Amino acid sequence: MQNITIAIDGFSSTGKSTVAKQLANHLGYIYVDSGAMYRAVTLFTMQQGFITKDHFNVNALVEKLGDITITFKFNKALGFAEVHLNGVNIERAVRTLEVSSYVSRVAAIPEVRYQLVKQQQQMGKDKGVVMDGRDIGTVVFPYAELKLFMIASAEKRATRRFEELIDRGDDVTYEAVLKNVQERDYIDSNREDSPLRKADDAIEIDNSDLSLEEQFEKVLGLVAMTFEDFE
Ligand code: C5P
Repeated sequence: MQNITIAIDGFSSTGKSTVAKQLANHLGYIYVDSGAMYRAVTLFTMQQGFITKDHFNVNALVEKLGDITITFKFNKALGFAEVHLNGVNIERAVRTLEVSSYVSRVAAIPEVRYQLVKQQQQMGKDKGVVMDGRDIGTVVFPYAELKLFMIASAEKRATRRFEELIDRGDDVTYEAVLKNVQERDYIDSNREDSPLRKADDAIEIDNSDLSLEEQFEKVLGLVAMTFEDFE
């Protein structure tokens, strides 16, 4: 069976990475979490002191972009590849609400996007890849054989993200998580460079009322149809 490229886009916390990981494991494909790469650059920006609540030194970040190396290393126990920044495992550190509160501003910088998109295209050059993000079907892999666009209500998404953060022991409120989800939706959809939008040939999946099993079954059906089309 020929390898294909699967692009999964959508708003924050729509469960893209859950489906992407399930699919990659099922098909034996590589899974790339492109959001983790934008989060890694954001963590670097924070560590350098280039971004605070009311200040963002974009020029300083752009000058230092060459100092950032992002890699993924497969963790057998977890069943997915964890993100590393300059050799340090930052998988947990990039999932905080603080990183989430800055990431959309960093991801709006064209130089950042240019560099990460180049790396993402390189990672997917041999196909057999499932990548999730905001611009995968529109910019990174416009010729992907299967494109999904995931949506769910902001409240459902915030509830899911809130529960994830509480489960890992973070001290957050539901209101703060909802506000962050809505802010990121707004910035991601309205930026100049590669705004979040559904590719014309993407299939929309509203998972507000779908269980994980129902959702996976639906997606597997779409994958099977895609393989039939390309055989
Ligand atoms: O997917 P995740 O929610 O971890 O992504 C974090 C942020 O990274 C998004 O809110 C968005 O600002 C940015 N992002 C992006 N393009 C992608 C993936 C993520 O701009 N392909």
